[in-house]
Amino acid sequence: MTLARFQMCIDGQWVDALSGKTFQSLNPALAEAWAELPDAGEDDVERAVQAAQKAFESQVWRSLSATARGKLLRRLGDLIAENKEHLAQLESRDNGKLIRETRGQVGYLPEFFHYTAGLADKLEGGTLPLDKPDMFAYTTHEPIGVVAGIIPWNSPLYLTAIKLAPALAAGNTIVLKPSEHASATILELARLALEAGFPAGVINVVTGYGPSTGAALTRHPLVRKIAFTGGAATARHVVRASAENFAKLSLELGGKSPNIIFADADLDSAINGAVAGIYAASGQSCVAGSRLLVQDEIYDEFVERLVERAKRIRIGNPQDDASEMGPMATAQQLAVVEGLVADALAEGARLRLGGKRPQIDGNGWYYEPTLFECDNHSMKIMQEEVFGPVASVIRFKDEAQALAMANDSQFGLAAGIWTRDLGRAHRMAKAVRSGIIWINTYRAVSAMAPIGGFNNSGYGRESGIDSVLAYTELKTVWINLSQAPMPDPFVMR
Ligand code: NAD
Repeated sequence: MTLARFQMCIDGQWVDALSGKTFQSLNPALAEAWAELPDAGEDDVERAVQAAQKAFESQVWRSLSATARGKLLRRLGDLIAENKEHLAQLESRDNGKLIRETRGQVGYLPEFFHYTAGLADKLEGGTLPLDKPDMFAYTTHEPIGVVAGIIPWNSPLYLTAIKLAPALAAGNTIVLKPSEHASATILELARLALEAGFPAGVINVVTGYGPSTGAALTRHPLVRKIAFTGGAATARHVVRASAENFAKLSLELGGKSPNIIFADADLDSAINGAVAGIYAASGQSCVAGSRLLVQDEIYDEFVERLVERAKRIRIGNPQDDASEMGPMATAQQLAVVEGLVADALAEGARLRLGGKRPQIDGNGWYYEPTLFECDNHSMKIMQEEVFGPVASVIRFKDEAQALAMANDSQFGLAAGIWTRDLGRAHRMAKAVRSGIIWINTYRAVSAMAPIGGFNNSGYGRESGIDSVLAYTELKTVWINLSQAPMPDPFVMR
């Protein structure tokens, strides 16, 4: 098969790596290479960051009004809408996500760009009611400088958009480093951004591996903010790299989110919510509802019905409209899932469903929807993120026990609460330690709704009305109104 060839976008130009090195991207449904991309070295990262710095300082970008930046983002959103089928197909081929899911995500991206475009010229500073009558002071929101956006493979376009749009709305420039497993759509996004009219150097994309390309970017002294989405181990490297020049950080990491089903819940909805939480995207979702906490009275019925529903999930080619579960995105991820399933069996979790690769034609990295029943919440399968279609279910007696289990986690990204009792829904929403709470729903996203985690799920928030502020520095300007000469220079005013 002839491989599709991609180049990187640096300073508005399409370029190969200076070394000429390349790497291959694999199609997870076939376990075979479909594309070849530049393997960026330190020298390529250097020119991308320098291009971003030059663009940040250039009048072409600096003198553009916030309203004009908003218009560019709006135009980019429109171009994404015009190219949505192409982008959806490309992402599905590159990371194995279902075409119905990539269509949904790409279909929503324009809304996201339009929403953020509208925020660009609403970054108002304030006037300060100072306690010094001869002084006047005000604040402004200034761009930070060059931003590095580090992206994982599971939802590359969406996770890029929630960094790129606010970073540009605030007047920064950016160097994106997509995952080595799913870079194609980010390069296409850069092409659309150039078409939309963003000046050269404002958006750059370097492709390559994490420990080389990613590390060179995150430790670069001109990078002033790093927006990272990925795993905890990588995040620790990124935090250390940021310490070199105190680059600002946002970290969106993993989770082990509880989906808590009370006996009074609408069971049909709760079962759908459990399926959406763990088997959608083959569980390769940071917000996966991988811990099912189910109240005693309905536990047996819930588990039976969930098993029955999950058995009917259609596993197959992600580019087939009828498929409900595609493959794992990488062979490594499949191996991680298999390892954690073996550990769960060894520690005595009861396998109710799945636990193996399905019988399917070809070499794709598929895994069956899997469910473990657990008696003990401290089991590894209840505590560790799998990032695959593996749920573990445990029973609880009452609200207090459900809450204790929900919060017994190193993570705190999302939680689902299923109940018809309004008071309980709000009590739980307040007490559960996580950044997103879904009541009687799961896996809902909106441009208006912040996402991010408590605890080891990271820090900072993306999306929502404050997202652009996270890409700004606050400046305080003092004006001396008095005509009197400057008083005693050795006393603080
Ligand atoms: P990962 O941490 O392996 O990689 C993420 C990115 O970091 C990739 O681009 C990779 O090349 C890069 N990278 C790797 N080593 C690096 C280094 N030393 N320096 C700089 N960059 C480096 O994550 P992944 O396997 O691509 O994605 C899965 C993880 O991401 C899961 O833990 C998942 O929960 C998390 N995730 C979180 C969210 C969220 O919004 N909270 C969303 C999606 C995924």
